[in-house]
Amino acid sequence: MIILDGKKSSQSVKDELILQVKQLKEEGRRVPHLAAILVGNNGASETYVASKVKNCSEIGFRSSLIRFDVDVSEDELLEAIIKLNNDDAIDGILVQLPLPKHISEQKVIETISPKKDVDGFHPINAGKLVQGMPTFIPATPYGMMLMFEYFNIETKGKNAVVIGRSNIVGRPMSILLSGNHQFGNCTVTICHSHTKNLEAICSNADILVSAIGNPGMIKANMIKQGAVVIDVGITRVEDATALKGFRIKGDVDFDDVATKASAITPVPGGVGLMTIAGLLKNTMQAYLNK
Ligand code: NDP
Repeated sequence: MIILDGKKSSQSVKDELILQVKQLKEEGRRVPHLAAILVGNNGASETYVASKVKNCSEIGFRSSLIRFDVDVSEDELLEAIIKLNNDDAIDGILVQLPLPKHISEQKVIETISPKKDVDGFHPINAGKLVQGMPTFIPATPYGMMLMFEYFNIETKGKNAVVIGRSNIVGRPMSILLSGNHQFGNCTVTICHSHTKNLEAICSNADILVSAIGNPGMIKANMIKQGAVVIDVGITRVEDATALKGFRIKGDVDFDDVATKASAITPVPGGVGLMTIAGLLKNTMQAYLNK
């Protein structure tokens, strides 16, 4: 059994980007610049954005963090996005989700220029993904593809099961795995909360991707012997013995499932790190597209 260590695979992506940045600097060109918008002070969102900004600086990208109070109006937020759309010095824009209830996430996503949409959530980019056109792939599924590439996971002809059908993880991942490209060509089943016989469906998966948000739900009895198991889930579970008062848990009961899987991602230290790698690659691509 191998552990699909996101530290190794994300470092490999970052090393490649570091070289690209070095070359840009040698040529006297500016470096890619990511703008991140954070509304309010949700603990998990703060952590994610801080990590994205830190990773930008580690590889030599510029980044700007634009913060708004939780009660910012939708108009004010949309205006800020439009300003970034029109700023030639900005290559990529991300708005950390979730947003407060009074702001329409859909409106926000659709206001970001598709050319700067490095999260890949804009309907134009989502449509291109469905049609197999070059586009910004949402960072988490893109990160998983980069992980498959790094660990050379064979996907062709395999049965893949994706649990979760969100626009940011499950749905695009199912499209990528079924696509006609090197780390696609799977026969894909997509599951959700109305799926019947989830256990039987999962037991037939050569590749299982779980993006639910239900800690420890995936047990060994749902796993085919030798399956590749990718755990996207991230849930903060209260734990008084932990320094921060909580621990990060994935969907997969790691110790149980590891007895049957041929390869498995840890949480933390797996897909989360690859999400950032995907975002950084998209930001470089947005820069190069100019
Ligand atoms: P959503 O809540 O949007 O989607 C969850 C999906 O799981 C839904 O499609 C839901 O079905 C399905 N689901 C819920 N319960 C069950 C069940 N009992 N059986 C089968 N399917 C079920 O979440 P996201 O896609 O945004 O995120 C999923 C998880 O991944 C979360 O833990 C999130 O924190 C994490 N995440 C991790 C990232 C990373 O970088 N590692 C990045 C993004 C997310 P239905 O559609 O019917 O409601």
